[in-house]
Amino acid sequence: MNFPPPASPPLSILMYHQIGIYPRPDEHRALFCHIDRFRSQLRYLKWAGFDVINLTEARRRLFEGSTYHRRSVVITVDDGYDDFREFAWPALQEEGFSATVYLVSSLLGKNANWLTEWPTKPALMTAQAVRTLRQEGCDFGSHAVSHPRLSHLDARRQHAEIFDSKKSLEDLLGEEVPHFCYPYGDYSLRARDLVHEAGYRTATTCIRGAGNFSDNPFELTRKAISYGDNLIGFAWKLHAKHARKGQGAQPDRA
Ligand SMILES: [Zn+2]
Repeated sequence: MNFPPPASPPLSILMYHQIGIYPRPDEHRALFCHIDRFRSQLRYLKWAGFDVINLTEARRRLFEGSTYHRRSVVITVDDGYDDFREFAWPALQEEGFSATVYLVSSLLGKNANWLTEWPTKPALMTAQAVRTLRQEGCDFGSHAVSHPRLSHLDARRQHAEIFDSKKSLEDLLGEEVPHFCYPYGDYSLRARDLVHEAGYRTATTCIRGAGNFSDNPFELTRKAISYGDNLIGFAWKLHAKHARKGQGAQPDRA
């Protein structure tokens, strides 16, 4: 896989999970964002003159020589929680922004059953909600069929998680689904190559850093926005915390 070195100026892919009305969590803080903070973060992006773009445009800017002059941001939201429909999407629409939501294809309208330790498993968006939001301009990507750790699966099951989720989301939406996100940020080189082979155009990881530090479009780095990030913390992550940190591809275990 040979791609030219990434371009500048800074292009950050932000990572969110649940966005809504939540008390300060004792743990998993990076999996929650209060809607009031989310709204102020969106207003900050507008005030500071960021281009809020989608992943297709990010790929063009980072890897296909598309010139750009303004700092840029992609908003990604993992798992497809129903709170996105209720809180985050209306806030995004108010600012004229979109986002990419990664869906677990076999769990639409169900609960986040992979959160085995959690006393209550949050609800996930229904197929109907996904279709409605798509009509309103929201982007959707695949987060596999069942939210597994891909490096723990054998090649056949990796193939099924990556290819079958694409197919069923494309059937649901009636269009290409070009973006993938590795559940838990867990991937192997074999899984990455299957994502490429399946026809996806990008895949996001949980490796921290500005997107400019991504090795290729199938190992995109992101910045997690945490519950504790006030506006200063948010701005710090946007403007300064660009360096790459965190584990890349894992060895396949099966
Ligand atoms: Zn996830």
